[in-house]
Amino acid sequence: MAEVQEHELVVVGGGVAGCTAALYAERYNLDVVLIEKGAPGGMTATASKVENYTGFPEGISGIELAERVHKQAENAGVRCLMLTATGVQPMPYSSCTTCHSRPGDEQATWLQSTLDDRQAAMKAWDAQVTTALSAAAVRLGFTGTDAAAKIANANAALNAKKTAGGTWKTSQLNFQKAFTNQQYVESEGSWGIHNWDYARTVILKAKDEALAVTATSVITIKASPKSVKKNKRVTFKGSVTTSTTGKVTLQVKKSGGSWKTAKTVSLKGAGSYSVKIKMTKKGAFYYRAVFHASATQLGGSSTKVKVKVK
Ligand SMILES: Cc1cc2nc3c(=O)[nH]c(=O)nc-3n(C[C@H](O)[C@H](O)[C@H](O)COP(=O)(O)OP(=O)(O)OC[C@H]3O[C@@H](n4cnc5c(N)ncnc54)[C@H](O)[C@@H]3O)c2cc1C
Repeated sequence: MAEVQEHELVVVGGGVAGCTAALYAERYNLDVVLIEKGAPGGMTATASKVENYTGFPEGISGIELAERVHKQAENAGVRCLMLTATGVQPMPYSSCTTCHSRPGDEQATWLQSTLDDRQAAMKAWDAQVTTALSAAAVRLGFTGTDAAAKIANANAALNAKKTAGGTWKTSQLNFQKAFTNQQYVESEGSWGIHNWDYARTVILKAKDEALAVTATSVITIKASPKSVKKNKRVTFKGSVTTSTTGKVTLQVKKSGGSWKTAKTVSLKGAGSYSVKIKMTKKGAFYYRAVFHASATQLGGSSTKVKVKVK
């Protein structure tokens, strides 16, 4: 009767790829077995001389390299069997203990908790990146309702930082340093490499979008008249440099108060705006115009003008 063996990992093929895979699995304390049907070291053994393998500047004979690769796996503790694999079936250990009805299985439970941990870490990381990029956007006066819009705006913010004097590479590196998870992830056996990759993707996207920003905005405002009676109208006029489309919001506040939206108007063809606002309360008010950021232009606000209502 055939002997039944159970291993955590079975590597089929003892060539360079198989030996390397088995070596790494062994180093991570997996119970691994390597199955080879022919000569250990695989096809490499048939090469008279291998000249492109790093670490051997003068080249090395194929047979010697094959033997070395195989020996290294054995020295690491990999068990090698001279057998021919006749079939492969999917591993029962899956990431879901419930679906596969293996709630009591130690391996499946371990795998499940590892994946859960990693997913939780990635979610936390996503939130961290979003928060950081949103904060950058807010600092530069961008507005946006959803995370995607904020991130797009933050990309423009990073570009503004670059044009303000910093080099992109420095910003990029600092950003990575600040936001990459530098914790050792036990279950992954790595220093947050996945997070680093994710950060890199975000940053490269930021770079692309940032390069699309070609203009800053200079916004002007004039009020006429500057002194009126209650319930009369004041006309606010001005322009936004370089922009011919988009919207301007007129904001109002009392001295010491906070800005509130008074009215929003669309820019006309030449980047100008004009809006009449009825003065319904007595007192001294400040008005300013705010231009919202677009994909190619940074937003900003005008200086404030004072209007007296008697
Ligand atoms: C003549 C020659 C010269 C070469 N020169 C160079 C060179 O100079 N530089 C270079 O970079 N590359 C060279 N190569 C290519 C190089 O040998 C291969 O890229 C390399 O061997 C691939 O390694 P591998 O582990 O993926 O596969 P392989 O080396 O093919 O190993 C696969 C192993 O799996 C085993 N196996 C297959 N099926 C089963 C089964 N059912 N059960 C058990 N075991 C099984 C095979 O016996 C084999 O040992 C050369 C190849 C040849 C043939």
